[in-house]
Amino acid sequence: MTDLQDVLQAAAFAARKHRLQKRKDAEASPYINHPLEVAAILAGEGGVTDVLTLVAAILHDTLEDTETTPEELATAFGPTIRDLVQEVTDDKRLPKPERKTRQAAGAAHLTDRAKLIRMADKIANVRDVTHHPPIHWSLTRRREYLDWTEQVVAGCRGVNPGLEATYDRLLHEGRTALSARDA
Ligand code: NDP
Ligand code: ZN
Repeated sequence: MTDLQDVLQAAAFAARKHRLQKRKDAEASPYINHPLEVAAILAGEGGVTDVLTLVAAILHDTLEDTETTPEELATAFGPTIRDLVQEVTDDKRLPKPERKTRQAAGAAHLTDRAKLIRMADKIANVRDVTHHPPIHWSLTRRREYLDWTEQVVAGCRGVNPGLEATYDRLLHEGRTALSARDA
């Protein structure tokens, strides 16, 4: 298959897997918007052309948020993609706060491709928490989320200056927007 076919096959696969899911924003946007945005950030702001990274980015939430198995990913996309998606998948057996601590502590130990995906994921979520936040989240909770992404991204630095600059700009914008109002 060509690189383009791989990317489109991943988009079709992720769209099918996430078809019943919505993001947490007020409009309940289709979930697939998010993994596609993460891949678009990698290709755009990050200048990433490596097809394995782009395919894994499109698939990055399938193991965590759908019934997709690692075996299914290996069959459809090969073992490298399976491993990469597993690398950016939290252990759902752990309680949420522990998952968040681990994601931050583990960031520096990820492979370079996984660091790129993590950074683009955090860029997308910082943008969402600033402009399209989960309904019912207080300003304090949104600010705390931004603080957590900063810890994760700290461990991912050194692999893509474009993504880092984009993240830093959006974090600053987000903090400015959220500090301008009362908690
Ligand atoms: P999360 O922090 O896990 O929710 C954020 C995640 O939801 C994002 O990482 C993103 O994940 C996904 N998401 C979907 N839609 C949006 C959107 N519009 N904007 C941003 N992110 C979106 O929240 P949980 O409800 O799972 O809570 C877990 C943590 O929150 C716990 O650690 C708990 O301690 C803490 N908490 C804090 C409170 C507070 O007031 N400070 C209150 C309650 C809990 P992805 O990229 O994978 O889609
Ligand atoms: Zn994500």
